[in-house]
Amino acid sequence: MNIGIQADRRSFLRMAGVTALAAAGPLPTMAQAAQQDFVANSRAQAAKTPIRVTQLAANIHLLQGYGGNMAVQTGTDGKLLIDSSYMPAAPRILAALEALSKDPASTLINSHWHVDHVDGNRPMHEAGFQILAHTKTRERLSTPQTMKLLHISLPAYPRAAWPMTTFEESMTLWRNGDRIRMAHYAPAHTDTDISIHFEHANVLHVADIWFNGFYPLIDESSGGNIDGMIHASAQALTLADDQTKIIPGHGPLGTRQQLVEYHEMLATVRESVAKLKKSGVSEQEAIARKPTATLDAKWGKGGMTPDVFTGIVYRTVNV
Ligand SMILES: [Zn+2]
Ligand SMILES: [Zn+2]
Repeated sequence: MNIGIQADRRSFLRMAGVTALAAAGPLPTMAQAAQQDFVANSRAQAAKTPIRVTQLAANIHLLQGYGGNMAVQTGTDGKLLIDSSYMPAAPRILAALEALSKDPASTLINSHWHVDHVDGNRPMHEAGFQILAHTKTRERLSTPQTMKLLHISLPAYPRAAWPMTTFEESMTLWRNGDRIRMAHYAPAHTDTDISIHFEHANVLHVADIWFNGFYPLIDESSGGNIDGMIHASAQALTLADDQTKIIPGHGPLGTRQQLVEYHEMLATVRESVAKLKKSGVSEQEAIARKPTATLDAKWGKGGMTPDVFTGIVYRTVNV
């Protein structure tokens, strides 16, 4: 394992909130140990992280724990949940749902296939939720997967964790007095990302195409790319107005204006890095030239360091 890989892992752990663990001792030197550690450490953190509940509309709440941001709509048609975090968080999530209302479990929507959004699928399914997602989410959860950037290998999930209803382009659910529109983005953060829009309540979950306030992770191993991220954030903007409560995959609840700023940041970084790549500059040299320097104070404090993010943009940009 070279130092670059260690730096990647350290920075991602920091984003995931595991600073104390990362600082507790030297990181394992084997890539194998790193991948097992990442998922195991994340699950251990999720087990002890309380679930914060924030009301967004009369019957919609935001749930935030250790994994990706979740949301639940309650009502007599049954609870509709977005994402399931890490598996050990399931008892806390189920307790939070129970405290909100006695409505039965109904539907769990996965925003995309990543472990921090789907690891709890099985216990949620066992609690009565039927799982719905993009068709490619089902494909990825039912087969072994890798995330090259984080050196993670994941086995296929058991059948109880697979979406049993899937769609390709878009889908509409009519539940609990609202119309819920789901739409697939062209490959952006992964090739499985969808937006979930509660149209009457004006609440929009945009999946991991938005890390609110930070350079985002883009998963090259499952089709992610910078041009797709720019396109997807523009697509999400067409669904929102100034009153829309926008739930990012990670980070605090956001506004349309904040999503505009993020979209513009992505486009600016893309242009700078594409110019370097087009001129024949190597990835390492492009990183060394610090093309994001003027943006780093605002966007570079998350898990994706400016250097790691520049590398992703360089590798995935279409010039
Ligand atoms: Zn995520
Ligand atoms: Zn993700």
